[in-house]
Amino acid sequence: MKPFDDYVALAEQAHGHMCAGQILGLRMALYGMKLLGIDDPTGRDRKRLVTFVEIDRCATDAIPIVTGCRMGKRALKFRDFGKVAATFCDLKDDRAVRVVALETSKARAKALHPEIADKNQQQMCAYRELPDEDLFSRQWVKVTLGPEEFPGYKGERRTCAECGEGINFKREVVRDGRVLCKACAGERYYTPL
Ligand SMILES: [Zn+2]
Ligand SMILES: [Zn+2]
Repeated sequence: MKPFDDYVALAEQAHGHMCAGQILGLRMALYGMKLLGIDDPTGRDRKRLVTFVEIDRCATDAIPIVTGCRMGKRALKFRDFGKVAATFCDLKDDRAVRVVALETSKARAKALHPEIADKNQQQMCAYRELPDEDLFSRQWVKVTLGPEEFPGYKGERRTCAECGEGINFKREVVRDGRVLCKACAGERYYTPL
């Protein structure tokens, strides 16, 4: 692993600013790596990790800085549960640990650094210093990934019978014998104008 400040510099660059959420996300990912016993996630161990993140907030941006898991490599997966939580999966040993930021972490930060008035500064300091157990809970979990969810998997590409757009393997929906994309099957998040 790199020195903590190296991760902080990389996270600030990627995220656009430094904030308490970044520090918490870095700590969360480092804790996940420690629990899994992975010490070189962006080098020697780079092909053995998949990370699920559960919130679209600052902490999420910091996690791939440590794990090297990127969405474009199919190694970072987003499940919008609105929780400051992430699951780190070791594909090699088929183990996974879910790490959750404790709701009490803000109160802990306040108790540790009452002299710092600015909340963000207070939490940034405290989230560097507090032990993992004061910031996070953890649970060992089982994550089952289909072959199409693994990084590097190559499957056939289908074409939607409705809109004609290409779809990667296993994201298609078959309805009444027709191959449809998820949008045409009713999961559209946009309305064509
Ligand atoms: Zn932020
Ligand atoms: Zn379609």
